[in-house]
Amino acid sequence: MLAWKSPQVPHVVGSAPILEVFDTSSGTKQATAPADKANAPASMYVCGITPYDATHMGHAATYVTFDLLHRTWLDNGREVTYTQNITDVDDPLLERATATGVDWQDLAEDQIQLFREDMEALNVIPPQHYIGAVESVHWLVPVVERLLAADLAYRVPADADGVEGDIYFDTLGSENGAWKLGQVSNYDRETMLGFFAERGGDPDRTGKRDPLDPLLWRMAREGEPSWEGGELGTGRPGWHIECSVIARRTLPAPFTVQGGGSDLIFPHHEFSAAHAAADDQTALAQAYVHTGMVGLDGEKMSKSLGNLVLVSKLRAAGVEPVAIRAVLLSQHYRTNWSWTGQLLAQAQERVAIWRERIAGAGLAEATALLTRIRSRMADDLNAPAALEAIDQWAATASEGSGEGSELLARGIDSLLGLKL
Ligand code: ZN
Repeated sequence: MLAWKSPQVPHVVGSAPILEVFDTSSGTKQATAPADKANAPASMYVCGITPYDATHMGHAATYVTFDLLHRTWLDNGREVTYTQNITDVDDPLLERATATGVDWQDLAEDQIQLFREDMEALNVIPPQHYIGAVESVHWLVPVVERLLAADLAYRVPADADGVEGDIYFDTLGSENGAWKLGQVSNYDRETMLGFFAERGGDPDRTGKRDPLDPLLWRMAREGEPSWEGGELGTGRPGWHIECSVIARRTLPAPFTVQGGGSDLIFPHHEFSAAHAAADDQTALAQAYVHTGMVGLDGEKMSKSLGNLVLVSKLRAAGVEPVAIRAVLLSQHYRTNWSWTGQLLAQAQERVAIWRERIAGAGLAEATALLTRIRSRMADDLNAPAALEAIDQWAATASEGSGEGSELLARGIDSLLGLKL
């Protein structure tokens, strides 16, 4: 699938420390390159949207976070391979299409286009591989066939709707040297069962070997889209196997960083890793990096509460995308936080002050400020601290010659994606 237009990322002289990020799986900060290979190639998979409600502020915060990670690697001189999927067929999308009386494909297409425009406006570097679930079905079928043949997947009897043969993953039977249950999430079983039921799993489906076993292939139902699935029969894929297969088809194993919102830790990232380990005995990723949830004025943000803040709506109201990005950077990516009008007003004010001050920046102070930004970002992408460093400089720097103005503007664009 076509992604979106890539921004020009300026190259800036100087070098940055190796990026460390907090890895959910180990519970520690991890260097994203060996000390003696600071500029080794890096690879990243970030779970993409299910195309409805795009692009709310939670989406924007996630993709901007991994854009910061991407930019930090590029600044380290690393070659980056980046894959993002689009879950362009899944229950929530089909349910929304039915509820609103729209064709599911039209809904997906419109929302993907809106997402592209928002990402471009927010100055996000696109993935090289932007791949939809629908276009990856033919990659995924042979993987599920292999899991069935190895008895690591199995069919269940007919559901209430009389359709037989849905295929599930044998979670406990699949544990091996590359993965065991809880390896990514570190959750206990009770927590896993709670999230599984809450986040699209079906613990009570009869015929499963374990309540946590996730769906790999759903057989065709009347009124649902379906695809030819070889030995699997006609149907459509489960979500975790989609990401697991797209990641392994497009990136080395294990790739450097698996990213997504913290609501994807379990079951999604746990099982994407499980499927990879069951299929070829390899770890999926080296580090699992998760972003916090974004609310509105202290409440959870959701369509059902009618309080989604959409990037496109703000843009249509004339808000500069650079100010939206500055709000996102003002919150540490791992915290849960709330969007407020006050945060936006503060970001707009900051942007105005930075613009004014950059015009007169001296060369030595511009160079020193870039060093500070680089060290803040290398420490688990501490964008709020990087912005504070800019504030401090803006508040204390004397009116300079302007000789450092271009360097500083380019550096802030390159490292933080803020085009001032
Ligand atoms: Zn995913």
